[in-house]
Amino acid sequence: MIDLPKKIVVGENVVWQIPKVIQELRLGKKVLIITGPNVWGLIGGTVEEMMSSSNVSYEVSKVYKPTLSEAESLHETLNSFSPDLIIGLGGGKTIDIAKYLSASSGIPFMSVPTTSSHDGIASPFASLRGGGKITSVLAKPPVAVIADLNIITSAPSRVIKAGAGDLIAKFTAVLDWRLAHRLKGEYYGDYSAQLALLSAKHVVNYSDLISKLSIEGVRVIVEGLISSSVAMCIAGSSRPASGSEHLFSHALDYVANYPALHGEQVGVGAIMMSYLHGIEWRKIKKVLKKVGLPTTAKELGVRDVDIINALTIAHKIRTERYTILGESGLTYEAAEKLAKETEVID
Ligand code: ZN
Repeated sequence: MIDLPKKIVVGENVVWQIPKVIQELRLGKKVLIITGPNVWGLIGGTVEEMMSSSNVSYEVSKVYKPTLSEAESLHETLNSFSPDLIIGLGGGKTIDIAKYLSASSGIPFMSVPTTSSHDGIASPFASLRGGGKITSVLAKPPVAVIADLNIITSAPSRVIKAGAGDLIAKFTAVLDWRLAHRLKGEYYGDYSAQLALLSAKHVVNYSDLISKLSIEGVRVIVEGLISSSVAMCIAGSSRPASGSEHLFSHALDYVANYPALHGEQVGVGAIMMSYLHGIEWRKIKKVLKKVGLPTTAKELGVRDVDIINALTIAHKIRTERYTILGESGLTYEAAEKLAKETEVID
């Protein structure tokens, strides 16, 4: 069973199309907008102007932290206002909260990303922090995605580029998926795998354009992120988009307390995991460099030992997700050698 977004709008100044899309898809008359304080400070005025000239009533809830408890605290607003639609307006974390609330209440949600930092913008999975771990919830994909390139292009350049790192990760994610299929008999769908790979290849082909961060470069990242999200919708799991490089990134969050952006960390993870898979890790590193993403421990702002420690525990992060790291993971010596060979550490 494949559940997909009904409408995806990518372009300049498309944020103004929110009321039109609500009407076209018959999404109701009451909308709860979940957003972050910074985003609301920047574009809240525009959204208020747009919504008040439509026949849709709305309420705004601001979220401050991407945690499970923060998401839970919004249930009260949800119950008292009882909206027909939830809009997630903000970065990946805000959208994850909107997605989680949609999944737990059954109310459809619309994704309006203001950054291109990771592929959660249209995927059916919400990941939230809570109780010292990350909870990944299978939710429904957004009923619509409105990605305004003018808004996304005005995000900090580091946040925009991070999405390209999340896309490069699909090279190793797909190889891990194939490995799990061959060794563990796990379901593998080549169509969704190819779709995820296409988004990674797109970044490679257009890395020059991306590095300039023009509207067209940002469009490449946004379209890639949506295509990767759709691959997850088709696969019914995050397998095509997330493998050992993601496990490494989650492990690094654990050992170094969220040192860098998700897309930056998985990019470095992809360099090391492609070495283990025996594919051209130098090419991946070159693309990341060209785009302006970190390729070393120093650039991620972590110590060499953090990288090694993260590599040694990565296989324990999600034990049901079989990857090139196997069931027993890497020894300290093997991890050190891997990080040195790929010049992630000195
Ligand atoms: Zn990711």
